[in-house]
Amino acid sequence: MAFLEDTQTVVDAAARIAKIPADILARLQTPDHVYAFDLAITGDGGTEKKFPAWRVQHNNALGPYKGGIRFHPDSNLDEVQALASLMTWKTSVVGLPYGGAKGAVVVDPRALSLRELEALSRAYAQAITPHIGPQADIPAPDVGTNSQILDWMADEYGKITGRWDPAAFTGKSVEKGGSRGREVATGFGGYIILREFLQLGSEASKLEAPLPSVVIQGFGNVGAHIARILFENGFRIVAISDSRGALYEPAGIDIPRVLEVKARTGIIDRGTCFALSPHAPPCRTFTNAQLLELPADILIPAALEDVITQENAPKIRANIILEMANGPVAHEADEILARRGIEVIPDILANSGGVVGSYFEWVQSLENKYWSEAEVLQRTDEKLTAAFAAVAAEKEARGTTWRMACYIRALTRVAEGMKRV
Ligand code: NAD
Repeated sequence: MAFLEDTQTVVDAAARIAKIPADILARLQTPDHVYAFDLAITGDGGTEKKFPAWRVQHNNALGPYKGGIRFHPDSNLDEVQALASLMTWKTSVVGLPYGGAKGAVVVDPRALSLRELEALSRAYAQAITPHIGPQADIPAPDVGTNSQILDWMADEYGKITGRWDPAAFTGKSVEKGGSRGREVATGFGGYIILREFLQLGSEASKLEAPLPSVVIQGFGNVGAHIARILFENGFRIVAISDSRGALYEPAGIDIPRVLEVKARTGIIDRGTCFALSPHAPPCRTFTNAQLLELPADILIPAALEDVITQENAPKIRANIILEMANGPVAHEADEILARRGIEVIPDILANSGGVVGSYFEWVQSLENKYWSEAEVLQRTDEKLTAAFAAVAAEKEARGTTWRMACYIRALTRVAEGMKRV
């Protein structure tokens, strides 16, 4: 609930500064469509299993609805609504021809067999098929979903509509019309935004020379890729974590070695420390809560929302927070961090590399013409560098926070689109 209210509070504040007309703001505070489903599959034991699910389409003033599908046991409608509206602002702030949407199924995908996971993915695709399409609403992966799940969904959609239409989904495997570079695009985009931020030379961007220290929460698609890219670019990753545990090593963690170990064991825990020795310095295990409060130049929450709250915001010791997860900093925490001079680079800009990568996949699928990974990343770099410069100019002109500057730009563009039809 806090996540949805926080999102609406930020939108209201930005709308006042951007002078968005009241009737337009009222329409933006509720989604265009909310579809609710009760998905049923036959479990491996032969009994029926049911799963609540949603697709929320927030706004399509600038183009088809666009947004991921989350499989998570704690998903709820408020969260999906908040995430759908974040997609509207994210696609707008980076200048994509899209609106915003999000979907979710209340399920722990790790508790299902592969057969059950496929059945559930196909059931969800059947439910949303009447509401989606390449020029209507284009789903993608999010937490708990991956290219295999999107391949099943795209296949099911094709069976129902009677034609294979790869542009109806993004985040597919390369074999099924996905884009090279899509998987790394979110982490890569976060690196580009951080690179541009550090080049500004502001007070907060003056780092511990010569190896800026980084703490990363979450080691999934987003966290693991940004950890690797930052490691390769000379950053010192001092702490990482996943849902099972956290590692801390002030001298720097050997990320390629952790990736190798995690590929074998699937988790980050004390065993990971032992597996790293003797090639890397011994490291200590920590809890996720402790991890957020470690001293570092840059803190990167890359797991779930609302992890930095008014309780722990006074204890954060990083100079910069790069929001790679969606909504990791609660609104009250944002105000505390701003007062403390900690710069927060907001999710809708920091993690927008994912939707930019999705956009390039959609373009390639529509044209049936595929690009190299280098070309995808080069175009992502250009798009995000331009978006960052525009937000930086807005921030400078308004004398406001990064988050407010992003929302002012995003809202202005969407409101303009709404006025024209
Ligand atoms: P993922 O499922 O691949 O990884 C999530 C990671 O977070 C895992 O390592 C998991 O163990 C960890 N985690 C879960 N609960 C945790 C907890 N309580 N404490 C610490 N770690 C925890 O998901 P992802 O795709 O990497 O997404 C992460 C975040 O980034 C989400 O907020 C998502 O909405 C956002 N995001 C993802 C993309 C994308 O392209 N995948 C794009 C934009 C935003």
